[in-house]
Amino acid sequence: MPLPPPTERTGFVGRYAPSPTGDLHLGNLRTALVAWEEARRAGGTFILRVEDLDTPRCVPGAEERMLDDLRWLGIDWDEGPDVGGPAGPYRQSERSEIYEAALQELEWRGLTFLCTCSRRDLREASAPHPPLGGPLEAEGPPYPGTCRMSDPVTQRLHSNGAAVRFRVSEGEFRFSDAEMGELVCDLQKLIGDIIIRRRDGLWAYQLACAIDDALMGVTHVTRGRDLLSSTPRQLALQRALGLREPQHRHIPLVADATGARMSKRDGSDSLRSLRETGVTPEEARRVISNVTLLD
Ligand code: GLU
Repeated sequence: MPLPPPTERTGFVGRYAPSPTGDLHLGNLRTALVAWEEARRAGGTFILRVEDLDTPRCVPGAEERMLDDLRWLGIDWDEGPDVGGPAGPYRQSERSEIYEAALQELEWRGLTFLCTCSRRDLREASAPHPPLGGPLEAEGPPYPGTCRMSDPVTQRLHSNGAAVRFRVSEGEFRFSDAEMGELVCDLQKLIGDIIIRRRDGLWAYQLACAIDDALMGVTHVTRGRDLLSSTPRQLALQRALGLREPQHRHIPLVADATGARMSKRDGSDSLRSLRETGVTPEEARRVISNVTLLD
């Protein structure tokens, strides 16, 4: 199957793209509210996309609970897994054929290679990596390029259990963020070649998100600042495929009671626990608008 063309759109198209890995916390909901308000203020379309590719981390029943929390709070969407729409399916687990087509297109352009490195190999091959400390800091050292040059025949032999990486070019990579202004990085030095299909065969978030935003015709991506370092990776994939780039806006993260970044893990800051105290949606929205932000 060739890569389908982007859904034709007019006007502002926003989205919220949660992963069903637990109950939404107040920080997740603040992001959802900001993205939804922007789309509604612009008289645009708002999409809800469920990012359920990382199946080992998905929690049964979490999708229904997330959608119910969003609706209870007053957020609505024009397109989504429960209402359908022209750019569906809206659950990533149902979009494998599209990711496969994107992979083939990248392969055809000579932009992919197989990587058989284990985490341990990568740890051992990586030079000491002093943190760069900037807003684009990634999760770990850049990929050292170990399998970049392997010959294609050997690659085929190893394809079972190998990851697929996207070749990243060297040099300056520029993009803009509506909150943070013009940003520039060297993607090769910062991240290195990007995994687009994991060793366990699952599609990587970076590929899926880049393809979905572009093909769904999303014009504005508003999301938490924890995803800022993903943006140049997703833009690099969109640029390589000649797809239209959305405008990004990364908003500050929310602090928990200890001043640390709020996480889904302990559940204490979930909307569920707040709902159980008997608050109304209006009160909950007020709580969410008054949360402490991290800078
Ligand atoms: N699915 C991601 C998450 O829940 C968000 C992806 C995005 O907004 O681009 O963290």
